[in-house]
Amino acid sequence: MTDAAVYRDPGSPELIEMAIKRGEGHLADTGAFVATTGHRSGRSPADRFIVDEPSSSESIDWGSVNRPFDAAAFDALWERVSGYIAEKERFVSHLHVGQDSEHYIPVAVTTETAWHCLFARNMFIRTEKYNPSNKEQWKILHAANFVCDPERDGTNSDGVVIINFAQRKVLLAGMRYAGEMKKAMFSVQNFLLPEKDVMPMHCAANVGEDGDTALFFGLSGTGKTTLSADPDRYLIGDDEHGWGKGTVFNLEGGCYAKTIDLSQKNEPVIWDAIRFGAIVENVVISEHQRTADYCDTSLTENGRCS
Ligand code: MN
Repeated sequence: MTDAAVYRDPGSPELIEMAIKRGEGHLADTGAFVATTGHRSGRSPADRFIVDEPSSSESIDWGSVNRPFDAAAFDALWERVSGYIAEKERFVSHLHVGQDSEHYIPVAVTTETAWHCLFARNMFIRTEKYNPSNKEQWKILHAANFVCDPERDGTNSDGVVIINFAQRKVLLAGMRYAGEMKKAMFSVQNFLLPEKDVMPMHCAANVGEDGDTALFFGLSGTGKTTLSADPDRYLIGDDEHGWGKGTVFNLEGGCYAKTIDLSQKNEPVIWDAIRFGAIVENVVISEHQRTADYCDTSLTENGRCS
């Protein structure tokens, strides 16, 4: 075994320096980190599974959306990916999912790549005090460059996302598209919050001076982010919220906005947020000046910024 370095709770500039040094991507002229994700540039529903185990099995609506994964096969793959990542430089961040003192989930995220650690820091919640209520911790294991073998590993393809409720684990292997990590934890909260009388919602939310909260529902690309980024109101979040007694709270700490046809004129708040510390994913960048062309969809129509 090698003594590969483990970077614990690295800051964003440090992660960006390492990501560039490691050849994971480039800087844009805005200062944003630019990453591409290969043959997957969106979520991959056929590669997403939930471990079929006694503590949660009867509460899950099994089918084409919630696909079962064998519990022993999960343990074997988790071990294999843990062994793979243990020999590499890796990045560990401690973050919360849920901006609420009662309903947060503490999660330790381990990634093979610096930029996916940065993504976790952008999208989940950075706290002054991690896990103050001493809740049981979730673990995300994210090995972007691991290649699954369907025959050996029981996966559908070379990449997989698996949620294990009994063990509080999320395994992402071979998944470079960063949105998979965010959506996996949303799925976890979607399962856990209703039993605590909190409604999880795929919506944007903002609030006025008087505490009047507005929710914006709609499918991806229909304007949740745009409408909620109102300079005259406070943004709660643009995508995932919980609605409990007397509170609407964000599950996330950042936005993951679509960049297709993004302009300063139409979306000034998002435009201005694309700077050092932000990530631009699957957006075409010019070779020398490193300017983004948000209208160029040759990589995908699902370009994103975090
Ligand atoms: Mn969404």
